[in-house]
Amino acid sequence: MAILTTNGVPVGAGSELIESSWQQQIKAAIRDLDQLCIELKLPQKFRAKIDAVNQFPVFVPPAYLSRIRPADPRDPLLLQVLPVIDEDTSPADFVLDPLAESASITQPGILHKYAGRVLLVTTGVCAIHCRYCFRRHFPYEQSPNSTDTWRPTLDQISADGSIEEVLLSGGDPLTLVDANLRRLIQNLDSIPHLKRLRIHTRLPIVVPQRVTDELLDMLTSTRLKLIFVVHINHVQEIDQHVESSLARLANSGILLFNQSVLLRGVNDNAEALIQLSKRLIECQVVPYYLHQLDKVVGAAHFEVSIERGKQLIAELRAALPGYAVPRYVREFPGQASKTVLA
Ligand code: SF4
Repeated sequence: MAILTTNGVPVGAGSELIESSWQQQIKAAIRDLDQLCIELKLPQKFRAKIDAVNQFPVFVPPAYLSRIRPADPRDPLLLQVLPVIDEDTSPADFVLDPLAESASITQPGILHKYAGRVLLVTTGVCAIHCRYCFRRHFPYEQSPNSTDTWRPTLDQISADGSIEEVLLSGGDPLTLVDANLRRLIQNLDSIPHLKRLRIHTRLPIVVPQRVTDELLDMLTSTRLKLIFVVHINHVQEIDQHVESSLARLANSGILLFNQSVLLRGVNDNAEALIQLSKRLIECQVVPYYLHQLDKVVGAAHFEVSIERGKQLIAELRAALPGYAVPRYVREFPGQASKTVLA
């Protein structure tokens, strides 16, 4: 049986890594293509410099790196973080802001997208850089990133009684230090018409050490109903440490949903998606969305056709109970909600 640290994270092989704090994980992240290739014993040909690395640097923390199989160029986790030369050439329909989000910004940092809900961009910082990210060119420098600069945003939410739910997004909101996150949640908690707080985060997956006692205390101290939307694309991302962190969140009364992106070479086969859904259910996470890739510059090599996506969903329906089949969706700029494709 696994031994638990004070953070509830099991200690096993590589325990020195697992016992490091989440901040140490971020500090120790690999930020260099050469270093990534050396650590993972990848062939020399992968070390060619590409321009996209400068625009969207490599960023892989040790806890995620430890789940990538060394010397395997086709590893599904590696493909999500490895810059490739294809990023430098994009078809014309791949653009910098595929969801036209800049048109939805009412205050810097707030995207007022859906009736009754606003999305608040809390930070531009992530604990990993996913090469397919639709916000890889987002103007984060215009977003508020301290409690002082959030004030106009909070005032705007306070003034609009129709808003019931705030979505914290980013970047990754859980990269905020606890003091800032606590202050933000307390501020939102004090707005009477708010009922729910949704946090879109990949941190409990990428660096499961982020789910600390302090974080759980903060999340369970608010009257707002907490919903986490995590982001897992492949079952190999869920090791025992991730499973433990998800269990701690779920056992604290937080609703857990997962969204995946359909990615060529990563999860574009029925078996990979079926195994992921089954594992998510074991971890008390609802397989919520399977996203069609947003057409962002630099990510075209990940694209899977919608026809193939529909075929995969049909295969999932034949193999899984209905609650374990994610909704296959696509976002179109300017539309009030996602379009369900299957
Ligand atoms: S964690 Fe989310 S926001 Fe950050 S790079 Fe990955 S997909 Fe983008």
